[in-house]
Amino acid sequence: MPNDKLISQQTLLTHDQRHEMGAVTTPIYQSSLFTFSDYDSMIARFRGESDQPLYSRVDNPTVKALQDKMAALEGGEACLAFGSGMAAISNAILSVVAPGKKVVCVNHVYPDTYRFLRGFCQRFGIVTEFVDGDDEAAIGAALSDASLLYLESPSSWVMSEQNLNQLGAMAREAGVVSMIDNSWASPIFQQPLLCGIDIVVHSASKYISGHSDVVAGLVIASQQHINNITRHISPYLGGKLSAHEASLLMRGLRTLPLRMKHHHQSALTIAEKLAEHPLVTDVCHPGLKPQSWSTLRGYSGLFAFEVAEQVDIPQLCNALELFHMGVSWGGFESLVMPAISVINQASEFNSAVDFGVSPRLIRISVGLEETNDLWADLQQALASANRA
Ligand SMILES: *Cc1c(COP(=O)(O)O)cnc(C)c1O
Repeated sequence: MPNDKLISQQTLLTHDQRHEMGAVTTPIYQSSLFTFSDYDSMIARFRGESDQPLYSRVDNPTVKALQDKMAALEGGEACLAFGSGMAAISNAILSVVAPGKKVVCVNHVYPDTYRFLRGFCQRFGIVTEFVDGDDEAAIGAALSDASLLYLESPSSWVMSEQNLNQLGAMAREAGVVSMIDNSWASPIFQQPLLCGIDIVVHSASKYISGHSDVVAGLVIASQQHINNITRHISPYLGGKLSAHEASLLMRGLRTLPLRMKHHHQSALTIAEKLAEHPLVTDVCHPGLKPQSWSTLRGYSGLFAFEVAEQVDIPQLCNALELFHMGVSWGGFESLVMPAISVINQASEFNSAVDFGVSPRLIRISVGLEETNDLWADLQQALASANRA
């Protein structure tokens, strides 16, 4: 798996210029505004003739350092950071669509992306057609009157992959902007812009942070797409990232390739073992059914498995000692989340119900603990939950 690309990404993430006073890390500019030395430099900034920072809702030097690193890491021209993954996703979508425009979105997208499209966007006259990410004929037909193709590969819960090269080309041909949520793979394992996708969005709360102490989001695209967001959307919605959190994300980035390598090996090992377990009926992990066209260079630590009828799911969750029950993923710690808990959730647009997620599916996020310890924990919990 890891290759030259990983090595160059690792160097990109660890190598940094020297900062003020010889500091090795980017200083945290904890300042809401930045003052000007004289009248002319202020006027130059207002005319857009200088890039001196102005106000931290629109530009902050620490946030900019993170954005520059992320643009390079994804192979894009520019990046914009936000206070959450959902702020990144909503800003990016709103920069492309308008009332009367149509979005084509793959099934099994992240639940709040689904609710944003079904609820919020619908209220403003933006319609969304949901399609099976494997069904190229249906996607081709849906694109004919669309403005945006929204992908998430691998997708939530079932981890299904989409053919990025193919769908990116189809969207371009149809004059449709393509966008992908790349949170699962991170730029270490997938670089969608290099596959012809126009815009990449991330929940940086997951692997990019890696330490479960930040909620943040990122958009990476051409300068033109980023300008559409900064000129028409983001200053007014105001969902900016703080300088302190940008600094925490840059700390996370230094170990991203090392962490991803560990998540890859550990989760794949556990997925293979689960696939052989008598109480497990299916494993949703893209590494177990690799596609010839896959653009993944490796696999992260999040996947799901389906348990047999005789497994008591609440007991399985309660018996796990190293996997804590909780939402989110991508951190150092292992987590478990049964699909039945979200199927039973009270929400207006329930994606798990609408997309037909199996109530016997269990999602786990394999953290950085020792693989053997995690496997032993899963084995004892499965045994204890066996009602047969
Ligand atoms: C968590 C998540 C999001 C939302 O990100 P936040 O940082 O929680 O706003 C979006 N997409 C995917 C795939 C996620 O897992």
